[in-house]
Amino acid sequence: MIFVILVCLSLAFIDGWRSWTARNIQLHEMAISTSNMTRAIAQHANDTIRAADTTLVGLVERVQAEGTGPHALLRLHALLVMRVNELPQLQGLFIYDENGRWLVNSLPATPPNVNNADRDYFIYHRSNVDPKPYIGLPIRSRSTGVWIITVSRRINHADGSFAGVALATINIDYFVKFYESFDIGRHGAIVLALNNGIMLTRRPLLNDYTGKSMANVPLYRDSISKKAAGTVFIVSAQDGVTRLNSFRHLDNYPLYVSTALSKDEILADWLTDTYVHTAGVTVLLVVLGLLGFHLVGQIKLRLNAEAELVRARDALETLNQTLERLALQDGLTGLANRRHFDIALDKEFSRAIREASSLALVMIDVDCFKQYNDIYGHAAGDECLRKISEVVKTNQNRPGDVAARYGGEELGVLLPGTDVRGAMAIAEKIRLEIHNLGIEHTGNSAGVVTVSAGVDAVIPVQDHDKPLELIQAADKALYTAKSSGRDRVCENTSACNSRGSAAQQDPFATV
Ligand code: GH3
Ligand code: MG
Ligand code: MG
Repeated sequence: MIFVILVCLSLAFIDGWRSWTARNIQLHEMAISTSNMTRAIAQHANDTIRAADTTLVGLVERVQAEGTGPHALLRLHALLVMRVNELPQLQGLFIYDENGRWLVNSLPATPPNVNNADRDYFIYHRSNVDPKPYIGLPIRSRSTGVWIITVSRRINHADGSFAGVALATINIDYFVKFYESFDIGRHGAIVLALNNGIMLTRRPLLNDYTGKSMANVPLYRDSISKKAAGTVFIVSAQDGVTRLNSFRHLDNYPLYVSTALSKDEILADWLTDTYVHTAGVTVLLVVLGLLGFHLVGQIKLRLNAEAELVRARDALETLNQTLERLALQDGLTGLANRRHFDIALDKEFSRAIREASSLALVMIDVDCFKQYNDIYGHAAGDECLRKISEVVKTNQNRPGDVAARYGGEELGVLLPGTDVRGAMAIAEKIRLEIHNLGIEHTGNSAGVVTVSAGVDAVIPVQDHDKPLELIQAADKALYTAKSSGRDRVCENTSACNSRGSAAQQDPFATV
């Protein structure tokens, strides 16, 4: 039972562990691909601005070399128009004098009386001799009204004093179109912003986001403002969605790019896979569990049945032994019964023939037992028989000796490997011990219960001697013992070794 539970738990654990690993792999792979996407977008922004900036470098060079005479401006206009047509990201190219007046631009017509001295890039270059490009705050174009990013460079007079500004404007839409080519799911986002946190554009486009400062957003505050690039999970304060954010600052310009993918969307496929897998494993576990429990039940049943079988077999064996004992034992005296005696006689007779050994038989009969019954009752007679049998039983000295109740109050003792002399000695010992029991018997001339015994022994020869003849011979000797006075032992030759009650203490005196 515990085994089945352990197997099921292990399977569940392994599957859970596999799912957890798959989830981490999925997140890791997404972090890598988001980081790659960010790198590509940052590269794109860098290249876009660099193309505009390179154009500005050429323009500044030219204005400084050729001046801003009417002829030069005419040629410049043609150049500006050509450049804007060449570079799709450019919305326009402009050159202003040191007072902010429009000198020349790429537009078909110059709006009248416009002055850009108030623009932040103009103010910056007027007050900074720094020759580097300046990326301005996002503004709405005075000429077209769309959101633009400005890239500008300072123009100097020959003496190094401020001579004006060369400006390229980049249409923010150019970035938006590029960002739309990426698959960022429903909750993903791409942001292009200045390093100071001012947002230039965002996908998806949200109202009023352009120009807004992100300086207080945790992602900017804790990560973007501190590192060149990175990947971080952040829960959005606006919509509560956890996003995987990857950011990177541009190599050459003070801008950064940030992309974000929803964690739930990243894990959507994994989640579906896990649901399907978990459902499959659950079904498997249920089936396995049921089968396991069924199997355990079957094993228990089998073990119980086996134990029952063993118990039944033991009981049968005991019963068999009892039956065997009952079949071969006399109920009253506990001696071998007549059947047992007959079998033993046949067996020992055959053995004696084979081994040419002597087989002796002692037949014992209680004297005047009819009268004992008459005087003391049948129950007392039974008790007397039991006592006599005990004496006979204790005189079986060898494993092959068989003492049996031959019939009524007649007992037979089979003594393999014993000759007449030995058998006579045993018979006499039995007789004497019974006599000495001293069981009162007023009907017997000895005053106590006595027995008579007939003894014979034979070394039987095949086809010559028969077991029955041994019985008849011993019976005959018993008859002799009876007729010659009882309480004695006689052999078949009519020789008797007892003189009755006179010589009870020395049974072998006359042998
Ligand atoms: P004898 O000395 O000539 O042997 O005289 P006896 O009275 O013993 O004569 P016999 O051997 O013919 O008598 C056998 C008697 O033994 C008959 C029967 O009443 C008694 N008897 C036989 N079997 C049993 C028994 O199992 N129990 C009891 N109580 N008596 C038995
Ligand atoms: Mg008898
Ligand atoms: Mg008798």
